[in-house]
Amino acid sequence: MKITVASGKGGTGKTTVTASLAAVWDRPLLAVDLDVEEPNLHLFLQPEISTDVEKAWMEIPVLDAEKCTLCGDCVNLCQFKAISLMISTLTLYPDMCHGCGGCMAICSKGALGKGQRELGTIHQGRVGETRFLSGTLRIGEAMSPPLMEAVKKKMDDILELEGRDAVIDAPPGVSCPALCAVMDSDVIVLVADATPFGLHDFKLAWESFSSLAKPTGVVINRAGMGTREIYTFCGENAIPILAEIPFDRKIAEAYSQGRIIAEVSAELGTVFSSLQKNIRALAAGDTGEVGDA
Ligand code: SF4
Ligand code: SF4
Repeated sequence: MKITVASGKGGTGKTTVTASLAAVWDRPLLAVDLDVEEPNLHLFLQPEISTDVEKAWMEIPVLDAEKCTLCGDCVNLCQFKAISLMISTLTLYPDMCHGCGGCMAICSKGALGKGQRELGTIHQGRVGETRFLSGTLRIGEAMSPPLMEAVKKKMDDILELEGRDAVIDAPPGVSCPALCAVMDSDVIVLVADATPFGLHDFKLAWESFSSLAKPTGVVINRAGMGTREIYTFCGENAIPILAEIPFDRKIAEAYSQGRIIAEVSAELGTVFSSLQKNIRALAAGDTGEVGDA
């Protein structure tokens, strides 16, 4: 089972929830950080990272100017303006290429060969029996989904080979990277806080991800701090509330020290054990067992 922890905005406690869920998970687990632009799950889980770092690449075109007849077919095809033809000069812009391969396929003169652009690095590690996997986008690389896909491929290989579950920390927000993270998951856990801003961005996340028709529930963080509007919204839209994490100074202190909040107290340990149970029930379609608004 793949569980993706997502949120409509940054700062909701998404990574905190992912780390705590990983800490209490009672089956063999792979903890995955797909927030490749700003990976920070390792700060909480503190895995022992392997020194075997793998690089991820994207296939991009390379021009052989001697074969090019300046026909312009590749320029017209490229939707991303990654190729231009000015007077008698064909120019490629490797950083704008999305790696679709169309230009290489359309060039009948064989003037566009295959090159590579580095996307970033993939790291693996372990914390106890739990395996850890993350990606780190290369500085200057604008597109994170191709690296995320490479991390997801590695994740699927490990899950198939070892029969583990995966808990995945998604990028925040509702843009392409966030959708890339949630689209293959079996369960989506949205983390939201009960403030007006939190509600606004949670609604955006719900509108974006509910179209995927996957079992989805919410964890309300800093419960008791804001208004009851988020509970009303969940009730109106039949969104199960999987857990509530109280607004508590002890949690903020633990977070600032990089500690796993499920380990701060017995009560918080119970909150996350119960979250795990509710996620399993949600995945099984047993929503009667899951809390509601
Ligand atoms: S399609 Fe091939 S031959 Fe035509 S402009 Fe592009 S690279 Fe040159
Ligand atoms: S591979 Fe696709 S995106 Fe990249 S330059 Fe060619 S047509 Fe454009």
